[in-house]
Amino acid sequence: MPVAGSGKGNPAYSAYRLLWTAIDWVYPPHCAGCGAFGERFCRSCLSQVVEIRPPYCRKCGQPTDDLELCPICRSSSPAFDSLRSWAIFSGPLREAMHRMKYRRDLGLGEVFGGALAGFYRSLNWHVDLVVPVPLSAGRMSARGYNQAALLAWPLALACRTRYNPGVIQRVRETPSQVGLSLEERRKNVSAAFCADPRQVSQQSVLIVDDVATTGSTIEACAQALKEAGAARVYGLTLARALARNRSDYTSADAPDGLMLAAENVKVNKDRPNIF
Ligand SMILES: [Zn+2]
Ligand SMILES: [Zn+2]
Repeated sequence: MPVAGSGKGNPAYSAYRLLWTAIDWVYPPHCAGCGAFGERFCRSCLSQVVEIRPPYCRKCGQPTDDLELCPICRSSSPAFDSLRSWAIFSGPLREAMHRMKYRRDLGLGEVFGGALAGFYRSLNWHVDLVVPVPLSAGRMSARGYNQAALLAWPLALACRTRYNPGVIQRVRETPSQVGLSLEERRKNVSAAFCADPRQVSQQSVLIVDDVATTGSTIEACAQALKEAGAARVYGLTLARALARNRSDYTSADAPDGLMLAAENVKVNKDRPNIF
């Protein structure tokens, strides 16, 4: 799948993509979204991806009714300068991301890293350094790879931006965020990260993750990076999980602005060809 407009002329990125083309030739893939033979993520599944389009909160990118700050960003100003996500965490994309994270479907990093690079370019952010949200040492040794790095590395290659996964570390194990309220999520990841001031001081840093829900993990990373002297911190995730009902955010002050379903988000009919 060609990634139009991203990484053109970058030999390292071309070599990276060529490697995956060769692997596909030797081991023909099945679609991670529907199982169809021949592509890692087929055209049919791609057509079902729901890209996030305005209106959304201008700070955290959470879909809202307007381009103002969402209730969360109004009540507590985030440490990150901006957070955006490419698409809604649903359908074949959700299935494929699950395979990328838990089933070692590593070739999806090339597919979705390219998509994310195209989206990133449309944002016109100035970034000095790309870093993935780190896993803890325990989770890294159990899984063997970091799914956020599968996305961040090709994005950095495609955009010719410095990549250094070592500048931020997870200094304590954090339980899974699944099923936690906004407040519980924030508490769960609070002070979980530490950044290297020698690497990030006065730098504009892009932190990349696979999926965001409340943005708590990106926020915790941004706090660590800002404490280490980063000038600006941007967050980028492939997907955004939307709360469908109040039970997804059990906090008493969960704002109604978050109670959105995927069907309420505008589907992009003229999606740019970034694959
Ligand atoms: Zn498919
Ligand atoms: Zn917001």
